[in-house]
Amino acid sequence: MASRDFVYKKFSEFYSNPSTVTPQLSMIGQRELGFLLFKERVMVRHKSFESMSSLKRFLSETVPSDVYHSCAYYENPEAEMSKKGWLGADLVFDIDADHIPTPCDKVHDEWTCTNSKCGFSGKGITPEACPICGGQKFETKTWACELCLEAAREETAKLIDILEKDFGFSHQEMRVFFSGHRGYHVQIEKDAVKTLDAMARKEIVDYVSGIGLSILEDEAKGKTQKRRRSTPFHLHNFGWHKRLKLGLQSFIMRATKDDLKNVGIKGNYAAFLENREVLLKRCIEENRWDSVRGIGVGTWRKLAKYVQSLEAAKIDTVVTTDIHRLIRMSGTLHGKTGLLKVEFPAKSLEDFDPLREAVAFKEGTARVSVSEAPEFRLGDNTLGPYKNQVVELPTAAAVLLICKGRAEVAQ
Ligand SMILES: [Zn+2]
Ligand SMILES: [Zn+2]
Repeated sequence: MASRDFVYKKFSEFYSNPSTVTPQLSMIGQRELGFLLFKERVMVRHKSFESMSSLKRFLSETVPSDVYHSCAYYENPEAEMSKKGWLGADLVFDIDADHIPTPCDKVHDEWTCTNSKCGFSGKGITPEACPICGGQKFETKTWACELCLEAAREETAKLIDILEKDFGFSHQEMRVFFSGHRGYHVQIEKDAVKTLDAMARKEIVDYVSGIGLSILEDEAKGKTQKRRRSTPFHLHNFGWHKRLKLGLQSFIMRATKDDLKNVGIKGNYAAFLENREVLLKRCIEENRWDSVRGIGVGTWRKLAKYVQSLEAAKIDTVVTTDIHRLIRMSGTLHGKTGLLKVEFPAKSLEDFDPLREAVAFKEGTARVSVSEAPEFRLGDNTLGPYKNQVVELPTAAAVLLICKGRAEVAQ
């Protein structure tokens, strides 16, 4: 209780200080807003605000733990769903470490099935359904370590590259955010995307994910064995084909025997490993994919499938296709970390330091009793690891550990 009061007090100070609270949202009057209330832990939806100043007043009076807005624009944002009058929606992508396999997720992530008769638990990425009872609700214990954040950043870089080179959006047209927890959001607010329906957005999801590339299909059904063997493999020089080519090129240059085994290529290792130069020239450059003995179309297709999985941007597909989605508002605090959702220019992705830029509570310290925390960094402070000990921490670190359920305010 004391811990929750402490976090509430910090959030309250943040939302009452006009110099720290800077929520950002375009077209606020046409958006639905939602809030998770601190004390009651209930979600309040279908709210609408005329202006930023009225929203700020509400935030300082209500002190929500999380603030969301619709990607959509409505005639009547406060009406019930069917009567809102959907006018359009931003195109939104969510990249979250929750959906990216990392070597560390087995170390710091746990999930427990909340079905009271089941309670099965495991480590790593939370499954879609419980393997024992099939339930779909879980309690999760996660950690945003630097490896996870780095993995999310790499996926975001791939996404931005695809949106830029293949869709033609400029960096200025992409709004990029750190989510305040374990990932990034990319948002496009151009008129050209606003009225896309869910099906059109699904097409974009498939493209970004590299799903349904015909060059990777094993052949149309019904063809004879003979025809199948003669189906050509050909890559042109734009879009996904170009991505596959570049990916194959770098694979050829660095592949080891083990890499070839992992990709599922059997036997003809020497043909591959001893002919790298020839493969690069004849196959990649000249598109003569069948010109090296022992490496046929089947091998290229396997390699290309592998490269597709590397080059695809691992987004949370549901977020992009849901045209009524609520997403966290930039400039507000994340209830699971006490960190801010912050916007930064797409071109700065490489240099952006989320564990510095998202720190909201920059002053003071607090004494907390930590049950368990790995070593972590916030700004210039590297802290932990801690296990069952009382420590004095910078406020932001204390709030983070309490929000994560790993510490209590020390009595
Ligand atoms: Zn279960
Ligand atoms: Zn991690």
